[in-house]
Amino acid sequence: MRIEEDLKLDYSDVLIRPKRSELTSRKEVQVIREIQFRNGDSWLGCPIVAANMDTVGTPEMGIELTKHNMITCLSKYVGENRRYDVHEKENNIAISFGMTQKDRDNLLGGMMGFTDFIMPYRFICLDVANGYTQKFVDYVKEVREEWPEKTIIAGNVATAEMTEALLLAGADIVKVGIGPGSVCTTRKITGVGYPQLSAVIECADAAHGIGGHIMADGGCQSPGDVAKAFCAGADFVMLGGMLAGHDECAGDIEHCIETGEDHMVFYGMSSDTAMNKHSGGVATYRASEGKTVRVPYRGPVKNTIQQILGGVRSCATYIGASSIKDMPKCATFVKVNRQLNTVFGNE
Ligand code: 5GP
Repeated sequence: MRIEEDLKLDYSDVLIRPKRSELTSRKEVQVIREIQFRNGDSWLGCPIVAANMDTVGTPEMGIELTKHNMITCLSKYVGENRRYDVHEKENNIAISFGMTQKDRDNLLGGMMGFTDFIMPYRFICLDVANGYTQKFVDYVKEVREEWPEKTIIAGNVATAEMTEALLLAGADIVKVGIGPGSVCTTRKITGVGYPQLSAVIECADAAHGIGGHIMADGGCQSPGDVAKAFCAGADFVMLGGMLAGHDECAGDIEHCIETGEDHMVFYGMSSDTAMNKHSGGVATYRASEGKTVRVPYRGPVKNTIQQILGGVRSCATYIGASSIKDMPKCATFVKVNRQLNTVFGNE
């Protein structure tokens, strides 16, 4: 047993120090980035990503986020017919896979029909709860060989050495985050995790050293957290909870007569709800590592996107960064001695 003495930080443990700035308006901040991937391809867009969760990674979200040049990772459970709805937007859509035999067959087996189906998508998202297994590294290698021209997003991990391992195995973007998600209970159930701000800083550093990129996944509760993730070196920021509760999400709007408020259900992909829906219940050898919650209904997602981009632009002007790309260069974090209660929408 070993204890690491270094203090690791979450988004709520820091603030970004303001700096003298030449910028006069938030409008001057460039939120579109060109990114050159390890596979040689380059992508132009706004590096905010909808999570591949049932309620958030929907074709409707894909269609709307594409209008803002943002990416949507479709939930792997979006039915094939529905996925065709977003084919024409494929430049900003990721098709997601886990590591089940069916996923492997579809991705690697040259299944008639499925190969044609994957072809138009630009991104393949390989998503497993624990990206630390050799089996996953080998899987990434196989997918790289089968799909040399695709941009591969793979995760999740939270440390530098595993970020490097996945990039060297063929990933272009490594998804970073073990335990920070809003409906994730991994830290409680297993004791495993890594404070997200430190994970992003350390993994970004490792990835950038070898021409790779990272996607900070989970733990953003407010536009300020998204800004902190970019300042910490995230190339992309993936959002679940912040994009939940909108018209573009899957699920019904429920009206509560007592409070007069409208809600939508949002659940983790390892929650009982997800396992009952997709795997016929929770297997006896595992515990659910996700929650099911009700989030306030918030109308069209474009309003929330405007708030997020407003926050990011404003942060950039406070620190003198003229683009998202420049934010890490301009940012200094200060540690704070209290937990900020910045629940999105309450400020
Ligand atoms: P959020 O933006 O809501 O804080 O985090 C979204 C991320 O939480 C997802 O992209 C995914 O990585 C993670 N996540 C989603 N569902 C679950 C779950 O059931 N368990 C765990 N451990 N993580 C989850």
